[in-house]
Amino acid sequence: MSALHALSTAPVAHAGLDLARIRADFPILRQRVHGKPLVYLDNAASAQRPKAVIDAISECYSTYYANIHRGVHLLSERSTAAYEGAREKVRAFLNAASVQEIIFTRSTTESINLVASSFGGSMVKAGDEIVITGMEHHSNIVPWQLLCERTGATLKVVPFTDAGELILEEYERLLDSGRVKLVAVVHLSNALGTINPVKFMIELAHARGIPVLVDGAQSVPHLAVDVRVLDCEFYAFSSHKLYGPSGVGVLYGKQALLEAMPPYQGGGDMIRLVTFEKTEYADLPNKFEAGTPNIAGVIGLGAALDWLNAIGLDAVAAHEHELLDYATALLQQIPGLSIMGTARDKAALAAFTLQGVHPHDIGTILDREGVAIRAGHHCAQPVMQRYGVPATARASFAVYNTRDEVDALVKALWKVKELFE
Ligand SMILES: *Cc1c(COP(=O)(O)O)cnc(C)c1O
Repeated sequence: MSALHALSTAPVAHAGLDLARIRADFPILRQRVHGKPLVYLDNAASAQRPKAVIDAISECYSTYYANIHRGVHLLSERSTAAYEGAREKVRAFLNAASVQEIIFTRSTTESINLVASSFGGSMVKAGDEIVITGMEHHSNIVPWQLLCERTGATLKVVPFTDAGELILEEYERLLDSGRVKLVAVVHLSNALGTINPVKFMIELAHARGIPVLVDGAQSVPHLAVDVRVLDCEFYAFSSHKLYGPSGVGVLYGKQALLEAMPPYQGGGDMIRLVTFEKTEYADLPNKFEAGTPNIAGVIGLGAALDWLNAIGLDAVAAHEHELLDYATALLQQIPGLSIMGTARDKAALAAFTLQGVHPHDIGTILDREGVAIRAGHHCAQPVMQRYGVPATARASFAVYNTRDEVDALVKALWKVKELFE
């Protein structure tokens, strides 16, 4: 608890964030690993959950759990109300026009596969093109490759600079082929930290009548997102990176498009009438939610949004920016360390290599010091290929991280240097 004590007396540069209180909300952070206080800096892989989320899930299972949308008994009515209440929270979080535009899935991955399968399967033909970028997560690459294999369409890739910024002239050039049916772009890169100019990119696509899907898996925990300001056709994210439970994802889609799209999966809860001759599908959003969903998980996501809204994403972003600047300055002092991803508009994570040390060794030594980071290709192998490295080490920040934890990271990295010299 010494870190917490230090925090309560340390000056805090950002306005209004009570870090000691925020940290106290996370039971998992109060532990030692290998005898050292846990410093959790693997938030881009998955964040931790506040007690409010754990309690909401526990309360659901302990007091009112039943299957939803079959409301003849009280528990089912209560579960349905809580589940649909969470949908309204997600709608408000994204500022979507209607709850019918909010589809619950398993993950970002499933949300993107839904669009690739349903939109892609019905709208994309041989000779068409899908535009993605060179910094996509595998889950925003492979579903489009599968679609291209099925349809005979072609995948086009927007390149990026050494700093990790998309080359927008190349993007416009690709859009001008006249064959592009969809753009799929990551909002905040999990491998580089780059925040892409998605609003501008959407305007360029719309000027040519092309719809856009935004992979928001990394952005939603770090910056306020308004799908009506962005005007994107689709926006996908996962609950588990947003302080919510794993196993829940969200797909936002514009209503007219979702209505025109065929169902993704068939089964219960997505139908109005089934006969062996023909099935009438349910209205949105149920048309895309076949089968019993992760009821308690969705309710947990709703609790995560309440928790996050109470802090406010602007305060979160300010705090994380301060941490990133502090970390970047200290990391740059380590000889042989190079940071991958130095875009002007960047958030929440530092990916780096250390000369002469494999990233996995960095990760293992840091773990012995209690510091949890990610080492690997971050599900973005083309990004590694772009820089000619097999892997990087990545420290990624969340609202509960502190300057003391950045100090612990940097101290452990100096130890790595010593061991390898
Ligand atoms: C994590 C991540 C995904 C995939 O999220 P899942 O929850 O694993 O489906 C997609 N895109 C980006 C940018 C990510 O960081």
